[in-house]
Amino acid sequence: METVNSAFQYCDQLVRDFEKVIEAPIVTKSSVYYTGVDLGTAYIVLAVLDENYQPVAGAYRFAHVVKDGMVVDYIGAIRIVKELKQELEQKLGAELIYAAAALPPGTDSLDSGAIKHVVQGAGFEITNVLDEPTAANAVLKIQDGVIVDIGGGTTGIAILKDGKVIYVADEPTGGTHFSLVLAGAYKMSFDDADQYKRDFKNHRELIPVLRPVIEKVSSIISRHIREYPVKEIYLVGGTCCLNGIEDIITKQTNLPTYKPQNPMFVTPLGIALNC
Ligand code: ATP
Repeated sequence: METVNSAFQYCDQLVRDFEKVIEAPIVTKSSVYYTGVDLGTAYIVLAVLDENYQPVAGAYRFAHVVKDGMVVDYIGAIRIVKELKQELEQKLGAELIYAAAALPPGTDSLDSGAIKHVVQGAGFEITNVLDEPTAANAVLKIQDGVIVDIGGGTTGIAILKDGKVIYVADEPTGGTHFSLVLAGAYKMSFDDADQYKRDFKNHRELIPVLRPVIEKVSSIISRHIREYPVKEIYLVGGTCCLNGIEDIITKQTNLPTYKPQNPMFVTPLGIALNC
């Protein structure tokens, strides 16, 4: 696997700190808290930063309230965000007032403010709604290349030039499809297959079974970047936790492919940084 450790230094440290505070929140005095709310197809994640933009708390829950970037269970989404907010407020002993949220690339015209209304409905004052790749890049700090966010329902693609997003796309292939492939191959329920897939111990065994769907994601990437002089691919999103995914993408696209140590919480932290 290719690595660019220095480029990911900030990202890796921030995500490591965030993983620690999910387990044990840091109860500090902060004049303000910034919350990033990531409403995903597979997970709803809340990331809380203090006045110095350091992670102090976080929580996530598996949920089916969003599909292909669209809120499909509005009431359910509000309920879960509210519950996670209250859980974190109790742990921190402080009220969480401000939040930012993000939309998958290219869905802003379809969303009609649903994600914003969910965050407000849960009791937050919303300060920003940005696009997911811009959020991810607040953590990755890439100048040129393509960020590929392989989440649960979709693969988001954002091409960057001089640190600015110049092209975005979102395609309906993601970790859910990986789990469906496994459910079929192993004759398991979807939930069992998804759990089996998330266990790092199983990744070596799963890669050959998942190769065709990873190759499909690679062809999606190649199609979207062909008009642009992209030289590097940067992976984020929970599906990129899969060990070995980067090698197949490198081979299929002929482009060096990099991923941070934990690609899972990059976007929620980037949302919080933009709060
Ligand atoms: P989307 O971005 O499509 O709306 P999301 O924000 O919920 O969805 P993420 O939280 O980035 O997406 O990723 C969720 C996906 O990552 C799920 O399909 C989940 O099974 C997968 N995933 C999480 N952890 C792992 C792991 N350790 N190994 C493999 N896949 C994983």
